[in-house]
Amino acid sequence: MARHATKIVATLGPASSDPALLEAMIRAGVNVVRLNFSHGKAQDHIDRAHLVREAAARAGREVAIMADLQGPKIRVGKFAEGSTLLENGSTFVLDARCAEGCGERVGLDYPELVEDVKAGDTLLLDDGKIVMQVRKVVNSEIFCEVKVGGVLKNRKGINKLGGGLSAPALTSKDMEDIRTAVAFEADYIAVSFPKSALDIELARTLVKKAGGAASIIAKIERAEAIEALASIIEASDAIMVARGDLGVEVGDAAVPGLQKRMIRMARAHNKQVITATQMMESMISSPIPTRAEVSDVANAVLDGTDAVMLSAETASGQYPLETVEAVHRVVIEAEKEYFSAYHAQKLDQVFIKTDEAVAAAAIYTAQHLKVKAIAALTQSGNAAQWLSRADAEVPIYALSPDKFARRKLTLHRGVYPYPINQADKNKEEILQEMEQVLLQQRAVVSGDLVLLTFGEPIGSPGGTNTLKIIKIGENRPIV
Ligand code: PGA
Ligand code: MN
Repeated sequence: MARHATKIVATLGPASSDPALLEAMIRAGVNVVRLNFSHGKAQDHIDRAHLVREAAARAGREVAIMADLQGPKIRVGKFAEGSTLLENGSTFVLDARCAEGCGERVGLDYPELVEDVKAGDTLLLDDGKIVMQVRKVVNSEIFCEVKVGGVLKNRKGINKLGGGLSAPALTSKDMEDIRTAVAFEADYIAVSFPKSALDIELARTLVKKAGGAASIIAKIERAEAIEALASIIEASDAIMVARGDLGVEVGDAAVPGLQKRMIRMARAHNKQVITATQMMESMISSPIPTRAEVSDVANAVLDGTDAVMLSAETASGQYPLETVEAVHRVVIEAEKEYFSAYHAQKLDQVFIKTDEAVAAAAIYTAQHLKVKAIAALTQSGNAAQWLSRADAEVPIYALSPDKFARRKLTLHRGVYPYPINQADKNKEEILQEMEQVLLQQRAVVSGDLVLLTFGEPIGSPGGTNTLKIIKIGENRPIV
């Protein structure tokens, strides 16, 4: 299989929980598996996490697990009949005290909504498919006029146009779910609907308290999060362009521009970015994507995203494997046309960190000396992170003894993590080991030029400060 620099995140669900199918999806290019905590019980996620670890081991790949918290998604309650048909112009009541919905009202799982809305506000239900305008709020009842009707089903989500809902990002369920995710060693935890950096910091504190090593992803899906974007990015390890809810809050037309802004900003802050939602939507029920979807995936790659994400396509769709294969095919082609702005941007900047300076030097050298690969010896993953942000045109092999670091690096564009055993080895032996890993992975053959980056003294924690150019097989004997 051709190597893809842009990573693929796939949501696990009933359609992809067969062990052999999941293994096939991983072999077809899935790097990160997302467990969606909006559905299922804690035990379901624990079982699925085991499934992922086992499938990854059989496929011989590093695969990260992302636990995606539900967050304060506001939903309508249930209807006696499972759904109701809303006519344009009719009056419909959202009522926190309504136990069972009917043709003219339905319950709410978030009673505080009555305090957050006022007459004139626009509410969007089911990802904006149904539109209502608030006419008046009386005690627990929100009276709305249906502007765009349709079938409203049980438990569909509600957003307010323009944002402004007061719900905190982490609910008590999310806090419990963080403990579950830490227990099964989730590599990434995604926070839904953060409003500010404080939400991310709270999640990080809870992960630490539970003894976890997970990195934190901020899902950018609220209007307020756009205003606080720089500080949210700074507080997070990665962000997700969560186009579903975001499009409902800020209007669909604003999303493509915001996607480009978010990708640019995440990269400038040395963070990862995932582009998500409806990327291959029609493949839920079709074995081939539309031209528009192919362009969407390709454009995310050209924007510089680290990863593209699949949601219902792989969780509940009819063609989970075909969807992964289609994304793989599209990203490989798009990467050939990728133009990096990195060098132009950095031309007159001062580097503050030595590892960034070494990464920039490695990329410059790689391009001008025509090397085959860069191998970074990294404990935490930091060195590979900088190399990824600098847009290497050659593969970046991240060699790390730490399994969390390796699994997290599966999200990073252009980075391919592998284990390395450096225990009881001196510097020469470790450099030799790096060469051996590259040869075993068939990344290089004898005579190829390769760059090695590492931190001296090797073994002691600290930043990368050394760049070494070697010709495979000539510096030392190949065993
Ligand atoms: P969700 O997040 O699928 O968990 O809602 C992604 C989005 O809103 O786009
Ligand atoms: Mn969302």
